[in-house]
Amino acid sequence: MDECTIFIGPYVHSFEQKHITCVENGLIAVSNGKIIGVSDNQDIDALRSTLPCSVSPKFVTLNNSEFFCPGFVDLHIHAPQFPNAGLGYDLTLLQWLKKYTFPLEKKYNDIKFARKIYRAVVDRTLSCGTTTACYFCTIYVESCITFVEELIEAGQRAFVGKVNMNTGCPPEYSETTSSSIADTEKFIDFMKNIKNSLVKLIITPRFAVTCDMPLMTTLAELAKKHDLYIQTHISENKDEVNYVKEIFPECSSYTDVYDKAGLLTKKTVLAHGVYLTNPELKLLKERGSSIAHCPISNTSLQSGFCNVRMLLNEGLSVGLGTDVAGGYSPSIINCMRAAMNMSIHISFLHDNHIPLNYHEVFYLATLGGAKALQMENLIGNFTMGKDFDALRIDLNCQDTPIDYFNELTLSEKLQKFLYLGDDRNIRQVYVKGNLVKNKIQ
Ligand SMILES: [Zn+2]
Repeated sequence: MDECTIFIGPYVHSFEQKHITCVENGLIAVSNGKIIGVSDNQDIDALRSTLPCSVSPKFVTLNNSEFFCPGFVDLHIHAPQFPNAGLGYDLTLLQWLKKYTFPLEKKYNDIKFARKIYRAVVDRTLSCGTTTACYFCTIYVESCITFVEELIEAGQRAFVGKVNMNTGCPPEYSETTSSSIADTEKFIDFMKNIKNSLVKLIITPRFAVTCDMPLMTTLAELAKKHDLYIQTHISENKDEVNYVKEIFPECSSYTDVYDKAGLLTKKTVLAHGVYLTNPELKLLKERGSSIAHCPISNTSLQSGFCNVRMLLNEGLSVGLGTDVAGGYSPSIINCMRAAMNMSIHISFLHDNHIPLNYHEVFYLATLGGAKALQMENLIGNFTMGKDFDALRIDLNCQDTPIDYFNELTLSEKLQKFLYLGDDRNIRQVYVKGNLVKNKIQ
């Protein structure tokens, strides 16, 4: 143990869905990226006596308007679509893909263009407090590699998917089954060689509309062989669900398509799940696959209400996704608000629906997202032994959008941040103990 920092001040985090734990006067000791001591009081001597640090720790003291919270997990975001955020929401999913998405993604065979955008994406998501993200890229391996380089340079924790698509897409932005598999294997080899502890590969069939069964089956085999994560979209929009039924008549449901392909594992993250039926929910629960809830996207592209309460009641693991550029905002804070709003709107339609509250969406954005990725032993809250992925929040920073006039408890400060705050209030971002974004002069 050659270095150690003790952070002195308030922190908030979740251990369970229904309750945020707020520690007004706490201590967090971090060494080599790991949390090596946590205290809910400020008895520094007592904490120090438990630490294995051989050198004097460095102390960092938060001021009265500051607190720490765990870094946010974005379970679903398309890095190449970033330039399209905010565009084309007068269209629905399948029209929007054709008009906006595919033409833009095709530009990423130009590495110079890819690097410029990808650098901006990582900078923006880190600034918004996303410490872990599941990214879709494009079909082009070289640009996926460029993205990985940018992520490593910036220090974000990420899963990167080379998109696979061999049918139902424009011929100028499509792959053959063999080239799709060969390129995926090339990307797997690249990622194995770099052995980065923060950036990992995730197998990424775009969705059932653009992948035939032989491609999906082979991708599932690759995931199994190399023990890889898998991500795709499911049941986002009514037209899409009907179309999937039409092109896979032998399958009983959208979920059954992925199950028959072997794509549903404990390491699978499925975006949306708006129109899942009860048998589908049961099957997903059985397989241990997770859902990325993307409320901004579901609203922007007029896809539908995703009933997260029902998913949670069924025992599914759920986290939040910005789904840029189906969603217009790269911020998980905005995503938390949208998740609450959507859930409240559902409660207007169904008497017995209990809407998600801020405790619950904060959980989904942190520990819930970590669990969806089977990473709850590594990230998600401030528990001894986990990596220090943290956001230093300041409600009263120079350019704050928050006015507060009364003395507030820590729980109230967190609420102000969740409802009124934005990336300006996120003054520092730590990933595995590294300060990867610093807005404090
Ligand atoms: Zn998406």
